[in-house]
Amino acid sequence: INSKLPDVGVTIFTVMSRLAAETQAINLGQGFPDFNADPELLAQVDAAMRAGHNQYAPMPGVPALRQAISAKTEALYGASYDPETEITVTSGATQALMTAILAVAGPGDEVVVLEPVYDSYVPAIKLAGARPVGVSLLPPTPGEPTYRPDWTAVRQAITLRTRALLINFPHNPTGAILEDADLDELERIVADTGVLLISDEVYEHIVFDGRQHASIARRPALAARSLLISSFGKTFHTTGWKIGYCCAPAVLSAEFRKIHQFMVFAVSTPMQHGLAAFLGDPRHYLDLPAFYQAKRDRLAQGLRQTRFRTLPCPGTYFLLADYSAISDAPESEFARWLTTEHGVAVIPIAAFHGDPDAPGSNRQLVRFCFAKQDSTLDAALEKLQAV
Ligand code: PMP
Ligand code: GLN
Repeated sequence: INSKLPDVGVTIFTVMSRLAAETQAINLGQGFPDFNADPELLAQVDAAMRAGHNQYAPMPGVPALRQAISAKTEALYGASYDPETEITVTSGATQALMTAILAVAGPGDEVVVLEPVYDSYVPAIKLAGARPVGVSLLPPTPGEPTYRPDWTAVRQAITLRTRALLINFPHNPTGAILEDADLDELERIVADTGVLLISDEVYEHIVFDGRQHASIARRPALAARSLLISSFGKTFHTTGWKIGYCCAPAVLSAEFRKIHQFMVFAVSTPMQHGLAAFLGDPRHYLDLPAFYQAKRDRLAQGLRQTRFRTLPCPGTYFLLADYSAISDAPESEFARWLTTEHGVAVIPIAAFHGDPDAPGSNRQLVRFCFAKQDSTLDAALEKLQAV
């Protein structure tokens, strides 16, 4: 068979979760909570099922959920998206990303992505027939200890063939976030170009230390050319429900929906009803930073008693740690060794690089997921002290 994705294997998340299960390791690899969602949310879904909301939802999503997304986005970022024509509920952010990329990019087009890059972006761009162009984030330095977008390099990567710039902040896996000044840069970079933005903001509600999430929706000039993608999996501890959404101006949403309707047509009806009711109370997402910040700090403090050296984590539920004091093995090998020999599964950052074997890809960093019960984090830390 003539493979459409000859270079693609099984994702690193599947590989590491499988290895963790086989070896009974504590899984701090794949990003998902090991605790349940809020009982109130579960009750809302249960009520929706019992009320008979068990048949196809309208193609763009249950109206009450689209209205709740619109109200939330307006309240937080000041952008007003029309639920009728500008918001589409999807099967997670993954499907929204695939749909957005297929909608905007095709043969001859280039899509700029920032490396390290989330694993689904490049295959989606290739399936669209377009060409991914990677631009590295600026790696941490002693003076600037977090990853930063390299706007000069982004500007240089944009050509007449560039159809879209695909960004993801808060950033998986580095935890990097955007500041207000970054939105200024973005505005300047795309002004007077035809470049669209696809902004993956699935960690929008997980930003720490009192900072505000710099959504592209805060800037009308950016929102006007953007497909903004998010997911309830991260926000409401429901990664298994696979419900996300895309907000975009009507012309872009119309193209998005043409593809969405033949990809899935519509997504789970009772979950959408449950989420619509739950989303109405802003505390359900405004409390999230404090909840995860305590877990971040628990893990970071615990890792100080080990030979890992953590990097700052301004957002997401992932913490990067340098293991160069422990081993000089490449990241994938180290991650496997840590799982099989010490019982803690993590994700190698090299997996987020186009060429995991390229010299710049192996920075001796691994990613820990801290969306876990405190008891899980403590049990992992005890094991990591022996490493
Ligand atoms: N984008 C990023 C950056 C992610 O980390 C994830 C999942 N962890 C997704 C997209 C996919 O989200 P979903 O599970 O809603 O498909
Ligand atoms: N996004 C999750 C992570 O980064 C994984 C989701 C998946 O397995 N596709 O860990």
